[in-house]
Amino acid sequence: MHNLQMVDLKRQYLKIKPEVDAAIQNVLESSAFINGPEVNRFATELATYLGVKHVVPCANGTDALQIALMALGLQPGDEVITPSFTYIATVEVVALLRLTPVFADVDADTFTFNIDSVRNAITPRTKAIIPVHLYGQSANMAPLLALAADHGIPVIEDNAQAIGGTYTFPDGKTVKTGSMGMIGCTSFFPSKNLGGYGDGGAIFTNDDQLAETMKMIANHGQKVRYYHEMVGCNSRLDSLQAAVLNIKLRHLDDYCAARRAAADFYDRAFAGHPNIVTPYRAPYAYHVYHQYTLQLKNADRDALQQGLAKLGIPSMIYYPVPCHKQNMLKAFGCADAVLPVTDALQDCVISLPMHTELTDEELGFITNGVLSLLQ
Ligand SMILES: *Cc1c(COP(=O)(O)O)cnc(C)c1O
Repeated sequence: MHNLQMVDLKRQYLKIKPEVDAAIQNVLESSAFINGPEVNRFATELATYLGVKHVVPCANGTDALQIALMALGLQPGDEVITPSFTYIATVEVVALLRLTPVFADVDADTFTFNIDSVRNAITPRTKAIIPVHLYGQSANMAPLLALAADHGIPVIEDNAQAIGGTYTFPDGKTVKTGSMGMIGCTSFFPSKNLGGYGDGGAIFTNDDQLAETMKMIANHGQKVRYYHEMVGCNSRLDSLQAAVLNIKLRHLDDYCAARRAAADFYDRAFAGHPNIVTPYRAPYAYHVYHQYTLQLKNADRDALQQGLAKLGIPSMIYYPVPCHKQNMLKAFGCADAVLPVTDALQDCVISLPMHTELTDEELGFITNGVLSLLQ
């Protein structure tokens, strides 16, 4: 019998148990639970891995986005362009800071920003653009960065789902996702591609001044203890999470490869099926498959999900309601925004189990299940 889950963190832990247990024990012995040496070490190693100058650790990915927007000094009413086809956190922080979310549509093949839609959404009040590297694949950054630069608008990358992924510019230069915008943000939520054993997040930048500001914001607006220069928040990565992440960062490339191998298996099994569109692999991206998300054509998604559940195969809809239709954002009057691709995707996407520990036997069971239900 299989015990299939969308994400299997237990099996992954068991493979690195001795390393992780020792690192955790070390923090317990030192009792430096906040700002222990692990935190700085992790920030330094992640900066090297990503090829960025500064990594500012914080409490979670949502805070990372919030601190990034705060550091840009935006004023209430300033507009921020985001996709609606994303996890709510991308947009929630915009609303929380009393900025105005403006939605751009995505492309149906990549699930990421449609450049024309972003261009059309720009106004004189646009003060930031947030591309989301959804499901683990980089948005097409070269045209987006050029468009933003033309208008002098900063780009904040929401890299919560794509850490370890890369983007290749038209000139052949390949860089890590999260390192291309003025600021990059990520989450270490346990199920993310680089997940801790609790909450965590980080902000990246090559700008010294921004890094300094973001560090202060994450620490009650202080640089010198008890002297508060600006309104900030309390957002820390704790030492235990940093200790775990230090270990897991060393395995991140292997984890990405394992996810890609599972995606290869799925792709082969579903190739050419009339009801299934497998995830598009953009030539400019190294996709790290945070999710493996199919689009169903002329098939009953609810029936498929129920059939899969009966077989013990979990599946998820990421996300059942796009952001612009969420009650949370009613006050912004965005429910009627014209986002035809987003609206269509909402009804046809379905994500299958995706993690680092899937065996060929399990993948075979899952793909056979899907294929038997779509006959
Ligand atoms: C997970 C996620 C976040 C938020 O991260 P948390 O650590 O859960 O706060 C933001 N954006 C996207 C796209 C995410 O997937």
